[in-house]
Amino acid sequence: MTTNQDLFTAAQNLMPGGVNSPVRAFGSVGGVPVSMVAGNGPYLTDAEGKEYVDLVGSWGPALLGHSHPAVLEAVRAAVDKGLGFGTSHPAEAQLAQLVRSRVPGAEMIRMVSTGTEATMTAIRLARGATGKNLAVKFAGCYHGHSDGLLAAAGSGVATLGLPGSAGVTQAQASETIVIEYNDRSALQTVFAEHGEDIAAVITEATPANMGVVPPEAGFNQLIRSLTEAHGALMIFDEVMTGFRITEAGYWGASGREEGWEPDLFTFGKVIGGGLPTAAVAGRREIMEQLAPTGPVYHAGTLSGNPVAMAAGVATLQHATAEVYQHIDAKAQVVTDALAAALSDAGVDHTIQKVGNLFSVAFGTSQSGVHNYSQAQAQETFRYGPFFHTMLEAGVYLPPSVFEAWFLSAAHDDAAVERILSALPAAARAAAEAS
Ligand SMILES: *Cc1c(COP(=O)(O)O)cnc(C)c1O
Repeated sequence: MTTNQDLFTAAQNLMPGGVNSPVRAFGSVGGVPVSMVAGNGPYLTDAEGKEYVDLVGSWGPALLGHSHPAVLEAVRAAVDKGLGFGTSHPAEAQLAQLVRSRVPGAEMIRMVSTGTEATMTAIRLARGATGKNLAVKFAGCYHGHSDGLLAAAGSGVATLGLPGSAGVTQAQASETIVIEYNDRSALQTVFAEHGEDIAAVITEATPANMGVVPPEAGFNQLIRSLTEAHGALMIFDEVMTGFRITEAGYWGASGREEGWEPDLFTFGKVIGGGLPTAAVAGRREIMEQLAPTGPVYHAGTLSGNPVAMAAGVATLQHATAEVYQHIDAKAQVVTDALAAALSDAGVDHTIQKVGNLFSVAFGTSQSGVHNYSQAQAQETFRYGPFFHTMLEAGVYLPPSVFEAWFLSAAHDDAAVERILSALPAAARAAAEAS
């Protein structure tokens, strides 16, 4: 039998770190990365034949669980007609229509291939539409890996402890202003000092790449009112939260009730149903600044690929109100049990939770976690032993304490029970960590 170790050893010789995306290398939890070969419902199976309850969900897309029959069927039907034509295709407008029916502020939509491309395009569009240069982002918010957005970027970057990234020029970094999340006065100061030059504020709808960090009441509205007052755009990055937190994303749980809308949204992950699709969307007059109707260039060989569109359409069609109710309820059960297990083991912690997205932070109950500094100050060393005890028991958690845990519609009582029964020993391992 080929072991995970054999596969990793071979991969390390062929690919930097043996992976194609850094967090997969288990750098922050140690040990040998697990090579998965199949996914079904809430379960993944590795190359050694071991089955895990999956709490990564392909980093978000697997809202319905792995290998959902209707999604596979839609993909197979699309594949049978050809893998892509580099032309317009009827399913592009079908997916765009599904997005707009859920998020009316997404008046027009441009499909792209990754979340990185969506936010990069949104920033370029904001600069083109406003004629201004500066972008404001929040420390610990991850918006993909385009140069200007890599400053203080959370998750993978937080895990590796890189100060941004090598290879990003001073000039590029200097056009991004980074401030602490949830810091109202810093945001006001930035606008007081640079208001004339700010093209956009980009924010995660609710940050979930430095662990989950809820926006304080009124924070998103403050971004909205300051950008509006200064002729800047608000870019609401819903790549992770879009069609996951509610059927209308985090906006559906906030802006819709509070009566505000961002200028631009970015979507990814769930929108592609597991295949590479993402989108930038927003107000018609801004979106029409994109080529070919406007001067802001964007293009993509695989943008709107018919197989990816089919996966996205099938996923959104099956992401019903019951799906969200189910995932929300299971998230409550898991977080209650997680908190109880950690408390029983005497582990100081906070459960960081927004709707059905959550993470744990260790040693943070005094300060709470409201920003990146607090997220980074936690006792990260407790997560490796916790993670490996869960892994041993057949539960696949994100291999970094800075990542959210993802449940799906397929996580039934049996899958949740396996998670719950693994938690006490993992909590004890966290307690003993040093
Ligand atoms: C995952 C993510 C991205 C980047 O998406 P990729 O498809 O990995 O490029 C951007 N923004 C947020 C909020 C994300 O969670």
